[in-house]
Amino acid sequence: MNHPAELSLHSYLRGAVDGKSTMSQEVIDQVAEDIKVALHKQFNPEEEEPRKFKLRMSNIGRPTCQLWFQKNDPDNAEPKPTSFKVNMIMGDIVEAVFKGLLRASGTTFEDNDKVTLDLPKGGKVSGEYDMILDDKVDDVKSASPWSYENKFADFNTLNAGDSFGYVSQLVGYAAAAGKDIGGWWVVNKANGNFKYVSAEEANGKEVLENIEDTYDYIDKDKPFERCFEPVPETYFKKPSGNMKLSSNCRFCDYRYKCWPTLQALPSRVSKAKDKPIVEYVSVAEAA
Ligand code: SF4
Repeated sequence: MNHPAELSLHSYLRGAVDGKSTMSQEVIDQVAEDIKVALHKQFNPEEEEPRKFKLRMSNIGRPTCQLWFQKNDPDNAEPKPTSFKVNMIMGDIVEAVFKGLLRASGTTFEDNDKVTLDLPKGGKVSGEYDMILDDKVDDVKSASPWSYENKFADFNTLNAGDSFGYVSQLVGYAAAAGKDIGGWWVVNKANGNFKYVSAEEANGKEVLENIEDTYDYIDKDKPFERCFEPVPETYFKKPSGNMKLSSNCRFCDYRYKCWPTLQALPSRVSKAKDKPIVEYVSVAEAA
């Protein structure tokens, strides 16, 4: 285990499974209130133009090319499926319930708060952290089984492929709140497993410099530059001649705009009966 509160949580949940732990009305009311607030945030946002592009803590760590598209070409984004909204609200519900479990297990923490990071050259980035526990800023993330195992394996694994910008988000919150960098409470949406992934290895100075650079690039409307290149497809280590979309671009809403030749096709090298779909940037001519 990576955090003492994990032990308290498991002990509380063991008691609940055995019919010995209870949950107070106060904790239940707080969970219900948090879900109520989340539903309003998702379906009745207070902002007049909630979809208007703005640099926020939640996006400041994303690749600059994606942010460039979001700001300059918002109408060409791939439409989000309706499941996106369900996923978002499910994430909020998981966060509310997980915080309730922490409270019920006797763990005390300061609840979410809005903060603003003042950048040295004058910009501002705002956002809302999830909690402060042991004087460190922590976030709660609900993850798919794949992401739970492979992405949130540990800090360095997450940091190496952090296309959602979770590290910048957390470091930005901590700097804005004047607290230490904590980590992520990660909940597997499929089976209820949870763990704490510490971000104590994060290089705060370097991450804050990256935040500044990103702010500068977007704010000054610098020319578009892709952050990733396509990758050669291989089969038994031999290149097939086809080029695939980088995994860093997989969730980019602008990938079809960015790579006009992009096509989703059954794998050109798989011998399986049901071939997986692969996004190809270019396909070699058949010999
Ligand atoms: S498709 Fe890839 S390179 Fe193009 S904007 Fe999206 S993340 Fe950047």
